[in-house]
Amino acid sequence: TFRALVLEQEGGEVRCALREVERSALPEGEVLIKVAYSSVNYKDGLALHVPGRIVRRYPMVPGIDLAGVVEESTAPDVRPGDPVIVTGWGIGERHWGGYAQYARVKAEWVVPLPQGLDLKQAMAIGTAGFTAMLCVMALEEHGVVPGEREVVVTGAAGGVGSIAVALLAQLGYRVVASTGRPELHDYLRFLGAQRILDRRVLATPSGKALDSEQWAGAVDTVGGETLAGLLRSVAYGGSVAACGLAGGSELTTTVFPFILRGVNLLGIDSVYCPRERREQAWQRLARDLPLDKLEAMTHVVSLEEAVAVGRDILQGKVRGRVVVDVNA
Ligand code: NAP
Repeated sequence: TFRALVLEQEGGEVRCALREVERSALPEGEVLIKVAYSSVNYKDGLALHVPGRIVRRYPMVPGIDLAGVVEESTAPDVRPGDPVIVTGWGIGERHWGGYAQYARVKAEWVVPLPQGLDLKQAMAIGTAGFTAMLCVMALEEHGVVPGEREVVVTGAAGGVGSIAVALLAQLGYRVVASTGRPELHDYLRFLGAQRILDRRVLATPSGKALDSEQWAGAVDTVGGETLAGLLRSVAYGGSVAACGLAGGSELTTTVFPFILRGVNLLGIDSVYCPRERREQAWQRLARDLPLDKLEAMTHVVSLEEAVAVGRDILQGKVRGRVVVDVNA
């Protein structure tokens, strides 16, 4: 048996409990992984605390990320002893995920741990950091390069935001961090932000279709009025990589940023991102993310503690990234 956090349904109620689970209860898949670490993302908070939103089948082991060592494999390209990462593809949503000491997954979901990262660092990055990298790659591919004009990251002190700030700064961009937490300004400057913006600035409607041109590009984890504000203020030809909804899922805008300024709205998805691009993003993370900054934005909790962190993340109270040590 092994330890797992399990979401169970009883009557109409969903409960989360630490259980001893038989290996034979694991779902099907070619690869059995001895999990070392998982992490807490915004979506894990939803899975743990908002019944029916992310998880609809019970019992379910949550955890949309995991890193560990392959113990058994029937796939030719995945060998026992390989250190690996799995994020997305529905793990922790529809397929048992990372909040457990063992996981069984499809071979095509498995990404080899890139040179230069250990398993803990990989989970300090996790889906949040992987998504931040996909945002940066999308901006690059649309011509947003380091220069005079600033790029802005919204929800900057969160998981995706912190890693986006550190990555962009390392790559030479002038980074502005938009945040609602004044107590984290020093933290954001340490990660590489040159300037801090109060998050109310972007989230306040101006009543106009276009505002003055400010940003070469943006990474947006907040959505809602904030995304609308970004679209009004991105400079001619600039781009916004939209990956989140921490501030709302609605988007009210006009076509003017698109047809008068040639602004690009780039949609970012980490869950079904194809394998080749996934591996490319992880290679880039191993190369471009400063590990001292990663370390400073991360703290480690046990399986049991992950439940409370899930509640905090929904309330916007988590700073940076939280790694789950499934053996603690
Ligand atoms: P997180 O650590 O909680 O970060 C979210 C940040 O957003 C918070 O730290 C806070 O930043 C800000 N925020 C929270 N509530 C807000 C509100 N009501 N209004 C304005 N800002 C608010 O979560 P995360 O794991 O980084 O995820 C961030 C978002 O990206 C989530 O919506 C998540 O679902 C999404 N996401 C999407 C993908 C994808 O594949 N597209 C992948 C990963 C994550 P400040 O305190 O700095 O203001």
